[in-house]
Amino acid sequence: MTDVQLLGAQDIRRLATALDVAPTKKWGQNFVIDPNTVRRIVDQAHVDASDVVVEIGPGLGSLTLALLDQAKQVVAVEIDPRLATQLPITIQEFAPSRASDVVVITQDALTITELPVAPTKLVANLPYNVSVPVVLHMLEHFPSISEVLVMVQLEVADRLAAQPGSKIYGVPSVKASWYGQVTKAGAIGRNVFWPAPNVDSGLVRIVRRETPGDDNLRQKMFAIVDSAFGQRRKTLRTALGAALGAPNVVEEILRRAGIDPSLRGEQISLEDFVAIARATGEVQ
Ligand code: SAM
Repeated sequence: MTDVQLLGAQDIRRLATALDVAPTKKWGQNFVIDPNTVRRIVDQAHVDASDVVVEIGPGLGSLTLALLDQAKQVVAVEIDPRLATQLPITIQEFAPSRASDVVVITQDALTITELPVAPTKLVANLPYNVSVPVVLHMLEHFPSISEVLVMVQLEVADRLAAQPGSKIYGVPSVKASWYGQVTKAGAIGRNVFWPAPNVDSGLVRIVRRETPGDDNLRQKMFAIVDSAFGQRRKTLRTALGAALGAPNVVEEILRRAGIDPSLRGEQISLEDFVAIARATGEVQ
C-alpha cells in the first residue's frame, strides 16, 4: 500500500486560499471536495497497478491523488498554469512516496497530440464546456487508451450513451460509439463540489473496441453525422445535402447503403452511418 492521503473540503479551501485562486467558470472549475466520490470514480474506472492514466484537468489534485493510489503512473494535463504549478507541491505533501509517478503538463487538452508515455486509461472530472470534444480528441489521438471513465454533466452523460430512436441520440452518441461501447456508470450530486454547480453530474464509461474502419472512413462518417443532425427534423434525403451534394446524389448513395431516405438521423445506427460513408465510394 502507498502513503497517499486524499483531499477533503478543508484541504481544498486551504489550497485555494494559499494560491489565491477563485474557481473560474471559463475553465469549468468545480473541484471535488469529497474523498468518497474520487474513490468511486477510480473504482468505476477499473484502474490497477498496470495502468498509466491520463487525467484532463487535475485542478487542485483531488482525483489525481486517488488515481495515484491505484495506478502505476498519472499524466495530468491542466490548462490553468496556477493549478499546474501547485499540483506537484500538493502531491509531494499528500503522496510523497509517489511524487515521481506524476507528470504534469500545462496545456489545453484539445491541443495535445503526444504524451511522454502511452496512456492506457483516460479518467477525469472534465470541464463541462469542453467535455465531449476532449473525450473525442483523446480517443482519436491516443489509441493506447483502452477505457475511459469521465464525469460530465448528467445531461451530457445521457446524450453520450443514448441509442438510436431516442430523442437525445445525436452527434456525441454516434461519434463516441465509433470508438467503443458507451455506457453510463452512475450519477453524482452537486454537493460533492466546490463551488457547487447548477446541474447534476454523471459518469460515462467507454470501452474501446476495434473501429469500423480507418481514419478516412471516420472523417467521412463524422461529416455525414454532423450534416444529418445539423437539421435534426429533416429527413436524411434533405439533411445530408450539406455533406453529400445534390438530392439525386444523396438518394443514390442512400440507396446503395440500403438506408431509407425518409428516415431522420436520430433513427439510424452507427453501422448505418458507416454504410452511408462507404457508399459514397470515396472511402473504404
Ligand atoms: N479534477 C479536479 C477535481 O475533480 O476536483 C478538477 C475538475 S474541474 C471540473 C475541471 C478542470 O479542468 C479545472 O482544473 C480546469 O482548470 C481544467 N481545464 C479546463 N479546460 C481545460 C482544457 N481545455 N485543457 C485542460 N484542462 C482544462
